Amino acid sequence: MSSTYDSNNIFFKIIRGEIPCDKVLESEHSLAFRDINPRAKVHVLVIPKKPYINLNDFVLYAEDLEKIDIFNCISQVVKQEKVTDSGYRVLTNIGYDGHQEVQHLHFHILGGQPLGGFIKKLVIN
Ligand code: 5GP
Repeated sequence: MSSTYDSNNIFFKIIRGEIPCDKVLESEHSLAFRDINPRAKVHVLVIPKKPYINLNDFVLYAEDLEKIDIFNCISQVVKQEKVTDSGYRVLTNIGYDGHQEVQHLHFHILGGQPLGGFIKKLVIN
């Protein structure tokens, strides 16, 4: 865990059971729950149970078992939500440019409908 991790973030409160979530799946090292403000018919968040700010932090500090577990969890959620064949998107926002709002690593799983282009074309200065 990075020394700058803030354990008051909303997802760590969910992990500690201090606030509720609409749980989809739980494994030894990961938790999946529905996004409170869904951007698609299927919008599930998958998070590690231990405190990691983002993917950089996770890659540096997580144990291999945690890394395997989170991808298995994503794979299982996709099956449960029945979007394996129709397709879906997995993304994680990191830091300021990535527009990360919650400072605990989370993978968004989006699907259940056509999602459109990957990202709107940005003006490059
Ligand atoms: P980010 O912008 O950090 O990648 O995404 C954060 C996501 O967390 C957003 O999609 C937002 O709707 C979701 N979110 C924020 N607060 C809560 C909450 O209390 N519960 C749940 N289930 N989702 C939340």
